[in-house]
Amino acid sequence: MRFHVITIFPEMFDSYLKESILGRAIKNKSILIKFYNPISFCKPKERVDGRPYGGGPGMVLRPELFLKAFSKIKIKDKKKTKIILFSTSGKKFTTEYAKQSAKKYTDIILISGRYEGIDARVQKILKAEEVSIGDYVLTGGELPAMVLIDSISRQIPGVLGKYESLEEERVSTSEVYTRPEVLKYTPPGRGKKTKIYKVPKVLLSGNHAKIEEWKKRK
Ligand code: SAM
Repeated sequence: MRFHVITIFPEMFDSYLKESILGRAIKNKSILIKFYNPISFCKPKERVDGRPYGGGPGMVLRPELFLKAFSKIKIKDKKKTKIILFSTSGKKFTTEYAKQSAKKYTDIILISGRYEGIDARVQKILKAEEVSIGDYVLTGGELPAMVLIDSISRQIPGVLGKYESLEEERVSTSEVYTRPEVLKYTPPGRGKKTKIYKVPKVLLSGNHAKIEEWKKRK
């Protein structure tokens, strides 16, 4: 899978993408991530943003620079390429969306806004799908781009250690335990009592049917 990210802040991705599972996926070429910065198409002293028509406090990202950045992307197969533009009012991103994207596409173009957003004509011209990662407003579309890259990448065979690691392929719970079996914890501060926290018995039972049942309940 190739991800093409159009952003005015490509450096924000550096540390997240070099670590752990995604870092390994990039190294072994399961995924490729390329950046296109609209600012690099600014003439000297030109700004990447402009005042909004109709007024308002925030600046708007200029369309020509985003379209120029887009034109640098080499699209191999249009049918297998998805164009996503991040927007607070877009379609809600879900695991199902990630799964379908990993199956259908070889290239995903992610367009990250900032400030008051990107001039609306970019979405219209590129017929990009507007996508939101949740009902809250972030300062930019870089975190949403990382969220999609992460979530879609883990659906690609070979990116996670084992296929069964995918939560959707097994019964999974967020309530998980490791050693020690019995944890003694004393809260900080004078006179605080030590309490004992045990791993639920069922997880030590070796009875897989019961364990699955417990996980489902959780
Ligand atoms: N007033 C704008 C609005 O309501 O859409 C706020 C724009 S926000 C400060 C700047 C950019 O961050 C957006 O254009 C979008 O690209 C991105 N963004 C912010 N929150 C997001 C979210 N929950 N999901 C996806 N993108 C988001």
